[in-house]
Amino acid sequence: DQPAPLPHRRDIALRSHREQLLKEFQIKEELERALLNDEMVLYFQPIISLRGGFTAGFEALLRWQHPTRGLLSPYHFIDIAETTNMIVPIGDWVFREACKQARDFNLKTAELGKPEVFVSINISANQFAVPNISRRFKEITEETGADVSTIELEITESVLMEDTAHAKKVLGEVKELGFDLVLDDFGTGYSSLNYLHQFPIDKLKIDRSFTHTVLTDESSLEIVRAISGLAHNLNIEVVAEGIEEREQLSLYRDLDCHFGQGYLISKPLSVQDVYGILGTRMSI
Ligand code: C2E
Ligand code: MG
Ligand code: MG
Ligand code: MG
Repeated sequence: DQPAPLPHRRDIALRSHREQLLKEFQIKEELERALLNDEMVLYFQPIISLRGGFTAGFEALLRWQHPTRGLLSPYHFIDIAETTNMIVPIGDWVFREACKQARDFNLKTAELGKPEVFVSINISANQFAVPNISRRFKEITEETGADVSTIELEITESVLMEDTAHAKKVLGEVKELGFDLVLDDFGTGYSSLNYLHQFPIDKLKIDRSFTHTVLTDESSLEIVRAISGLAHNLNIEVVAEGIEEREQLSLYRDLDCHFGQGYLISKPLSVQDVYGILGTRMSI
């Protein structure tokens, strides 16, 4: 018997392209079904004040309770949600759900006589590009009864760089409506420090890749110093992401960063677990 001839390289490329499209199509259908069947869930990761030690707010993080594959992190589906534009209806769902929780968490803090907590919501670049998105955010906030002042929008640098004119317009609108703006994953994009002052940014999050190396890599430490120095000068608050070690926390405290987030403080929590810690002090 003759062995089958090896497929031509181009055929492999075509087949894998076709397989890729098919896979995207399947996941898109699955995501549509997931929304209909209520399989999306939000987790909430505490963000503490590095000065006071109390929980200042939470980042809403999306999970997919998949019927057969278990609880999936965004890593498994967010890219496909982006390319298929399913991120728009998913983002809508996330926004509504996060607003409802912001409202309920703050009913609880009020009952306990504690300060309000904020909820920050990740907004993807595609979602940000939807016409009249700021009006949509306002409508959802009003429908759910959340207080605008407790909602923060997390965007990445790519939003600012891709269509600067559109970004300026929408950021101006959402600021006007009362939402706070957070620049996520700062330092990983094309990021130049010198465009920061052009946008009405309230907080920036130092990407966790810097936190990961800040104790061992001198240049990483220098970058973190530069970012936090500049932010202070521009009156932008600094959130340090990905804090896993006590020494990282102390370092950020020494740099006078305002907020910290990471596994050392807390993993993302279910809504039920959030109620367990609302109004309590973190022992950090
Ligand atoms: P992100 O916005 O930078 O969120 C922080 C990510 O870091 C989360 O991953 C969080 O669980 C993880 N993290 C927190 N503390 C630590 C730590 O100490 N060490 C390490 N290694 N990781 C830590 P997650 O939940 O898997 O989300 C990944 C990304 O998916 C997010 O990164 C965000 O870009 C995206 N994402 C999550 N939820 C949403 C959403 O509702 N909408 C959109 N558009 N994107 C989302
Ligand atoms: Mg984020
Ligand atoms: Mg981040
Ligand atoms: Mg990220």
